[in-house]
Amino acid sequence: MKRPIQTKKIRVSHTFSKQLLDWYYTNKRDLPWRKTDSPYKIWVSEIMLQQTRVDTVIPYYFRFLEAFPTVYDLADAEQQQVLKQWEGLGYYSRGRNLHQAAKMVVEEFEGNIPSDYDTITQLKGIGPYTAAAVLSIAFQKKHAVVDGNVIRVLARYYGIEDDIRSGKTKSRVQSLADDLISDENPGDFNQAVMELGATVCTPRNPLCDQCPLSNDCVAYQTVRTDTIPYKSPAKKVPHHQIAVGLIVNQNNELLIALRPNDVMLGGLWEFPGGKKESDESLPETVSRELNEELGVEVSVFGKFKKLKHAYSHFKITLHAFWCTVTNGAPKPISGKELRWVSLSEIDQYPFPKANKTLIEELKQMENSDLTRFISS
Ligand code: SF4
Repeated sequence: MKRPIQTKKIRVSHTFSKQLLDWYYTNKRDLPWRKTDSPYKIWVSEIMLQQTRVDTVIPYYFRFLEAFPTVYDLADAEQQQVLKQWEGLGYYSRGRNLHQAAKMVVEEFEGNIPSDYDTITQLKGIGPYTAAAVLSIAFQKKHAVVDGNVIRVLARYYGIEDDIRSGKTKSRVQSLADDLISDENPGDFNQAVMELGATVCTPRNPLCDQCPLSNDCVAYQTVRTDTIPYKSPAKKVPHHQIAVGLIVNQNNELLIALRPNDVMLGGLWEFPGGKKESDESLPETVSRELNEELGVEVSVFGKFKKLKHAYSHFKITLHAFWCTVTNGAPKPISGKELRWVSLSEIDQYPFPKANKTLIEELKQMENSDLTRFISS
């Protein structure tokens, strides 16, 4: 059932910012990107943190900055090097966009990350959230961030019952955050709200007895932390069956294909294959896809593995089959680059998570000997 949008006017608290910042300075976590004032490093951390947990990001952050210590190093790198560093972090367009944006920073802004909203949002991958985060944390500009943590804290604090999936609710929270943000310490303020949401005002069982805002928090004072914020049920996520072919040549090498840049997981390598149609079996999918993508006819003779993986908007079950080429030589018909690689060199290439899992399984095979699967 659709819930009505709450229209009641909300009074902005003048104590919010002070209470929050006092709490933050005593309780903030010791995170690596909080020890730098480098706009480049702060920018990298903010891109990595999008839809990704802090614990997951930390090792990637160190590894990435070791590989590309400055924006010049990143701009000079090959896309494949960047994606290799990003491998496993997911949402690969973030890595591709960061790389493109670094080139723009070097070519158009003499290596300086822009410090005003209109210019920084010209960079690829920098939307309102990232712009506000980088400008406030690196340049002390007064731009309030609104992410899931901020929405939860402010919805509870002000007792906002509207659906937080709605754009109207998000705009409302944005304007509250714009009013609340500290004049003196906008970067710390933004980090403090997000920190409170991540560590105290958690989605379930918030630690209200440890919260600096509890005296004025409407949800807490009216015992509604279980029902605020309200989020309407998510649409059912589609589940695709994907079938891929493992083809081995005389040199004990596997065939891999490069995904075009303009598609999901673009710039990553994969085993060739695709989505199962409703009227075909999985081996038929492999035959059809390899014929369409590589211009070959194959005999599908054995299943290697089946595994599941979830993306943000859909799930897949990946089925990998051994194949023999029975007619033709593989060529990149759908514009992809192809390469034969041995298991000892395959780690040089960036792969999506599900393919990476397959590779790890292949390496577990006895002596990694693929010769019995060689195409004739
Ligand atoms: S009192 Fe509880 S519900 Fe309110 S902001 Fe603090 S942690 Fe969240």
